Amino acid sequence: MRYAVLSDVHANREAFAAVLEKISELDIDKVLYLGDIVGYNPDPNFCIERLFSLTSVMVRGNHDKAVAGLISTEYFNDVAEAAVRWTRRQLTAGNLTRMRNLKVGPLEVGNGLVICHGAPRDEDEYIFQRTVARENFDFLAEHLPGTKVCFFGHTHVPMIIDEEGGVVLAVEEFRLEADRRYLINPGSVGQPRDGCSGASWGIYDDREHSFRHIRVSYPLAETQRKIMAAGLPDFLAARLFAGR
Ligand code: ZN
Repeated sequence: MRYAVLSDVHANREAFAAVLEKISELDIDKVLYLGDIVGYNPDPNFCIERLFSLTSVMVRGNHDKAVAGLISTEYFNDVAEAAVRWTRRQLTAGNLTRMRNLKVGPLEVGNGLVICHGAPRDEDEYIFQRTVARENFDFLAEHLPGTKVCFFGHTHVPMIIDEEGGVVLAVEEFRLEADRRYLINPGSVGQPRDGCSGASWGIYDDREHSFRHIRVSYPLAETQRKIMAAGLPDFLAARLFAGR
């Protein structure tokens, strides 16, 4: 079985459409989605509807929760908060209901795979530090002992973390060891933050037990134009080019 692993589309229609086109050309059996469908970019309804037509295997992200009114935006920065308020005004009633009803990670999706937004023990936690990764491997061992790979998003930085302590950034093809656990972040489709502007995602193949990281370029000037036209903060357009 080949899984496309996507996260953090953040309402970027052009980036998502480019990834969907690539998925349609490849031999993909199932799509896993790690949260943050909306926020930051200008096409929330399109992205929600396309994602729901593609898969039902998904968890919520912090932006999805905020837009749904399930959490306050007091811990969001001003730019993110402005985008949450803007997004809430754009959503159709049906899509707002979809945002409210998203599942909370971690979610076991079969074959030793788990999906979550930030981290398995806390959907809002950022996995950037080795100690945080270590504690989350311990959480998996205790609470989800059958886990081989836990996919996470939230940081927007593609990363493969081996439970023995190794970290690999943005490799194209990576063979996983059969007797180790991994935490894998495919990066962000709609707002990458690792210094590259291309939409970031990956494919996990359970027969080869491998993860392939993929970058897809997209017409980001069009997304930037729409961000400005929508009256969203300028910074959101600038950061797409910088990939930061
Ligand atoms: Zn995000």
